[in-house]
Amino acid sequence: MSLIDKPKARYERLSGKTSWMLDSRVSCHMVGDISVMSDLEKISPVAVSLPNGMYTMAHERGSANLDTKLKLNNVLFVPKLNCNLVSVSKLCKQLNCTVTFFDDCCVIQDRTLRTMVGSGEQTNGVYYYKKSTMNLVNTVNRRCLWHKRLRCPSSEFLSYLPNTLRLVHNTKEDVCEICLCAKQIRRKFSIGQSNVKENFDLIHCDIWGRNVSLCGAHYFLSIVDCASRGTWVYLMKDRSEASELLKEFILMVKTQFHKIIKVVRSDNGAEFTSGPMCAFYQEHGILRESSCVDMP
Ligand SMILES: [Zn+2]
Repeated sequence: MSLIDKPKARYERLSGKTSWMLDSRVSCHMVGDISVMSDLEKISPVAVSLPNGMYTMAHERGSANLDTKLKLNNVLFVPKLNCNLVSVSKLCKQLNCTVTFFDDCCVIQDRTLRTMVGSGEQTNGVYYYKKSTMNLVNTVNRRCLWHKRLRCPSSEFLSYLPNTLRLVHNTKEDVCEICLCAKQIRRKFSIGQSNVKENFDLIHCDIWGRNVSLCGAHYFLSIVDCASRGTWVYLMKDRSEASELLKEFILMVKTQFHKIIKVVRSDNGAEFTSGPMCAFYQEHGILRESSCVDMP
């Protein structure tokens, strides 16, 4: 009360500039110094009780800056008040923050990010607002940082985080090794051993793709000769084209390289195992071998 009742010069001297008391008892931000206010507007008179038991009236309301970043709205201008009061309850609500009080200071933190947005210093039993001098360690909210904080949730889970976090997408360096090791469902594949010596004795076929290519193809058929590792790739608009392309390839090898393909190995895709294809293999004396799905 002695601080509040002292002339304005008293509290201005405390910090060398406008000082703000953090008060958990007042229900509104109140200012006695009109020079710190902006956006003033007339309001219907509001009765304000002063610590000395007297009442006074506030006729104007506006905004005031706590510092360059924090702005208070709905601040009452109370001409007879010799100090500036920050209502802790209003502060928490307006800035979506929490205020924690300690013996000689208090800390104002963003409720979501938990970053410090301001602080207070206790002098003579009163907490005065003090601009946060703490440097933010990292203003960029990387997705991988939150991935680690929340103990490796899926990216779908991270998408539920509030937009206010403004998460930055991962870069190549942000790959989480723990996830790679912990979530892999199979051991690595050993290098295959092949006894095929002659070109075109065995070919491997597979269909790939999901994205549309520039020419409008959705898939491609890859044919790899086991002995030479020579590879042919055919773009396809539809998977069903694979059967005809494979037939054409077998005939092309026969004509161009004078070789008969002996074994065709593929997964059990219908394009390679359909009735007409089986008849074709039989007609040309070709054996068909199947490999497991999703195996290299
Ligand atoms: Zn992880």
